[in-house]
Amino acid sequence: MPTNKTFDYLNEELQRLQREGMYRIPAVWSGASGPWMETGGRRLLQLSSNNYLGFTGHPDIQAAAIEAIRQYGSGSGSVRTITGTLGIHDELERELADFKGTEAALVFQSGFTTNQGALASLLGPDELVISDELNHASIIDGIRLTKAERGIFAHKDMDQLERRLKENDGRKRAFIVTDGVFSMDGDIAPLPAIVELAEKYGAYVYVDDAHASGVLGRNGKGSTDHFNLHGRVHVQVGTLSKAVGVVGGYAAGADVLKRYLIHKARPFLFSTSHPPAVAAACLAAIRLLRHSQPLIDRLWNNASFFRSRLQEEGFDTGGSETPIVPVLIGKPDRTAEFSRLLMQEGVYAQGIVYPTVAMDKGRVRCIVTAAHTKDDLAFAVDKLVAVGKRTGVLQ
Ligand SMILES: *Cc1c(COP(=O)(O)O)cnc(C)c1O
Repeated sequence: MPTNKTFDYLNEELQRLQREGMYRIPAVWSGASGPWMETGGRRLLQLSSNNYLGFTGHPDIQAAAIEAIRQYGSGSGSVRTITGTLGIHDELERELADFKGTEAALVFQSGFTTNQGALASLLGPDELVISDELNHASIIDGIRLTKAERGIFAHKDMDQLERRLKENDGRKRAFIVTDGVFSMDGDIAPLPAIVELAEKYGAYVYVDDAHASGVLGRNGKGSTDHFNLHGRVHVQVGTLSKAVGVVGGYAAGADVLKRYLIHKARPFLFSTSHPPAVAAACLAAIRLLRHSQPLIDRLWNNASFFRSRLQEEGFDTGGSETPIVPVLIGKPDRTAEFSRLLMQEGVYAQGIVYPTVAMDKGRVRCIVTAAHTKDDLAFAVDKLVAVGKRTGVLQ
């Protein structure tokens, strides 16, 4: 019997997304990641990449990747626990632990799989996990994989967090999970207050520093270093995909944590390890980061300049305090229209809408990098203002 099944029901859902301004066709970029990029034959100022330090184009990192392909080949040939731990993987983990100032670090294929693997391994029926409502999707999914009791606290609301810890009264092992820098709002987690509550109630602290890696802390060591909380944060997740400029994620912490995850974390156990070129590029990037404070200073300088210019013009940049600068617009259709008009003007800033953010909190999310010049940023502000006036976002 021939099957007459069609995907009409999928189309209906896509049409609904289209009607509500949530339908997306990924742009295809013709060149490398950078402050100016080309799509559809047009050169646009890029304000949506996570390439904070311009590392994707760094010659030392590229040379390390090419050399690793020559030495080790194109792939690792296996998962880490069989024959997929090559010298270069081991070297990267030692470097990361040293950089972070932890006993150990374990690398995963991405930041996403790090959260999935680590949370699913650490949490079970005996644990209570308390998570900031604005935590990244990979944290939410990681928690969904577990049978842990779940609690959510309103964004950065330490009273709610404390109430939840008090309620638990030490019954279950509690884990507090937070982004270090929140990816949609660009604000920083109140880590000192979280650590204090954790110590008061005997809880563990798990911080996801994806947008803090290479951005926050001395030489980009992350939020634990930024707040000088060394030894008081139990799991520090980082990404190698954003400022580090390659791909991957890691969990840094105690040696016992690493050895435990090696036995339990399913993406680590059942998915092939990084190609040698990736591990070598990450290693070169971390070594470079150690001398990159001037570049990181330039990144923060660019971010303050851009954010204060937008605020002067009357835009609402929410709680932004990092190089992630959202420009709040509103409903999804209005946000999508703003982003589209901005692109016509030569600036690419991705519209972020429901369900990634609340229905009325759609925004074009601008990410400033160290590779932008002041002229680039002034150009972007001019165009944002022009579109803001045209759409009534600005008076
Ligand atoms: C981007 C991001 C991730 C995912 O990292 P990848 O390396 O891209 O998989 C995880 N957590 C947070 C908070 C992020 O912003």
